[in-house]
Amino acid sequence: MRTPVIAGNWKMHKTVEEAVDFVETIQRSELPGEVETVLCAPFLALPALAEKAKGSKIGIGAQNVHWEEQGAYTGEVSVPMLKAAGVQYVIIGHSERRTYFAETDETVNRKVKAAIAGGLTPIVCVGEVLEERESGQTKQVVQEQVKKGLNGLSSEEMKKVIIAYEPVWAIGTGKASTAEDAEEVISFIRKTVADLFDQQVANEVRIQYGGSVKPENIGTYIAQPNIDGALVGGASLEPASFLKLVEAAA
Ligand code: PGA
Repeated sequence: MRTPVIAGNWKMHKTVEEAVDFVETIQRSELPGEVETVLCAPFLALPALAEKAKGSKIGIGAQNVHWEEQGAYTGEVSVPMLKAAGVQYVIIGHSERRTYFAETDETVNRKVKAAIAGGLTPIVCVGEVLEERESGQTKQVVQEQVKKGLNGLSSEEMKKVIIAYEPVWAIGTGKASTAEDAEEVISFIRKTVADLFDQQVANEVRIQYGGSVKPENIGTYIAQPNIDGALVGGASLEPASFLKLVEAAA
């Protein structure tokens, strides 16, 4: 049995104060124990959020990290810095970072290795763009991203990874993938993990769906045998909506 993960990706939203208010609000509700609940916030809010969430069922994640521990990398933040701030998760290779900040499968791979070595749980994003979907290349594209992004990990390391399948055309567009299509790609990703590692790793690794997930459609994804939760942007920004997503995954 895999524990589902509901992770909010706030992207470039919320000041420190707004972020803390959000956590205080959701802490007034009882979160279901059988769902791993994660909030991925802008760097500035992370120390305050980690402090607030300490000892609760809420995990805190960053949205990016550098692979070096320190050095002359202006504007970057390292794994040890995140760890010291109380952060437990980090999103790696989100399509917005691949598109706007030149991230590649190679940088994803370095970041994943650094995150695991430093004790952070990576949420590794893969997914095809519309053109690739329409020309029938979806599986080939995600297979390549999984192979290269997770290259060189041991089986034990791979079990710590969370994969988020996010078709790029579904992100922030309101055009979510159908649950059946998402299940087909996610079961293919699981098979790819079995081929690259082994069946036991494939059985244990969590694979989320992401892209226009809302309280109204999350149930359809959760009902699929291979989908282990969701990475959620827009619908994670309001406490009531985020709580509904977490409750629906229980
Ligand atoms: P969305 O974003 O839920 O707003 O589509 C998902 C994501 O980018 O992780």
